[in-house]
Amino acid sequence: MLAEIISVGTELLLGQIVDTNAAYLSKLLPEFGIDLHYRVTVGDNEERLTEALRQALSRSDIVFTIGGLGPTEDDITRETVAKVVGDAMVLDEEAAEHMRSFFAARGIRMPETNFKQAMVPRRGRKLANPLGTAPGAVFETDDGKAVIVLPGPPGEFVPMVNECVTLYLRERFGQASGIIKSRVLRIAGLGESSVEEIVKPLLSSRNPTVAPLASVGEVRLRITAKASGPEEAEKMLDDMDQKLVAKLGNSVFGRDEETLEQVVVRLLIERGLRLGIAESCTGGLIANRITDVPGCSTTFLAGVVSYSNKAKQDILGVPEHLLIEHGAVSEEVARAMAEGVRKVARADIGISVTGIAGPSGGTPEKPVGLVYMALASDKGTVAYRHRFMGSRKDIKWRSSQAALDMLRLSLI
Ligand code: AMP
Ligand code: MG
Repeated sequence: MLAEIISVGTELLLGQIVDTNAAYLSKLLPEFGIDLHYRVTVGDNEERLTEALRQALSRSDIVFTIGGLGPTEDDITRETVAKVVGDAMVLDEEAAEHMRSFFAARGIRMPETNFKQAMVPRRGRKLANPLGTAPGAVFETDDGKAVIVLPGPPGEFVPMVNECVTLYLRERFGQASGIIKSRVLRIAGLGESSVEEIVKPLLSSRNPTVAPLASVGEVRLRITAKASGPEEAEKMLDDMDQKLVAKLGNSVFGRDEETLEQVVVRLLIERGLRLGIAESCTGGLIANRITDVPGCSTTFLAGVVSYSNKAKQDILGVPEHLLIEHGAVSEEVARAMAEGVRKVARADIGISVTGIAGPSGGTPEKPVGLVYMALASDKGTVAYRHRFMGSRKDIKWRSSQAALDMLRLSLI
């Protein structure tokens, strides 16, 4: 079963709003075993919408349209779909009444043009709009294809999809075509090309498929399995998950929505260890990420943003001679910061970050993106040197990611 989504609205083309509705629907379709092959956006223009609909019906079994159901002149989706599929529109008395009472309840007169919203396909069916006035519609073509017409405002779109569209899809397409399930493996400490190289043979697998997705400081591998039922799909995901982990080892820090900070907090709590953080160039970002995790208070004791040399000395006890001899961005100072925060916070583990986030302040010996980090514990102190690329924001984020990952790896 092939589907296509046509989002209608000039404001989408102008970039004034983001197509959250299409994203919402795209996530839902795999659960019905429906493959989405195309997403098209067109402006409020009858000619171009007609063309988009014809093309969609030539290559897909189900076409969803989003938007353009309002009462104004530029809202043309319903009428255009009717023309393309060769159906006529009739006034739906129930929908008209729903609209009359909707306006009456608000004490405002209903403009005549609003009745256009109560028109439904003669052959198809309407989809109730519990949170708005205009109903959606399902048009059916002579050759058994469907055009599902949905409203633009997300507050109406989402309930209509949840309540009416899912029912329709289940009824019409049921379990026939199986289901599609995905899982995302999340990886830290390796770049996209390294990950690709390591898992290369598995990237050509056809079912399940494996696709890399890179973002700042993290690579994700999305595994997608197509199967006849949920257990079979889950088993296929498990098998591929194991194969990937066998290659990537402990670079895989989590799955799906699990964040690096959640993993770190969970491990710290499991080990009964308490944490102190000393940050310079990350400006509190690491502490901020840790405190995003509910329950972190059992493990996180204190974070110090020691930005100036003086603060590094006064709060963390970094010896002045280290700052003079090696500079604030150095392995020696990173070590002293981690040991210092471990001591002042009375923590089991102290971590630190000091670096040059740029865009200025770099020198040939200490370029922008040079970041030192350290971890002090009862086993001693270890330090790492990184060279990150990107904007100031990227460097801060990558530094926080590397520091959290350094901590995670020390706990497993
Ligand atoms: P329309 O039904 O095209 O008149 O759209 C009404 C309102 O719904 C627009 O002003 C947008 O704010 C919103 N909207 C329309 N299409 C979308 C979409 N695809 N995703 C998110 N919001 C949308
Ligand atoms: Mg519009």
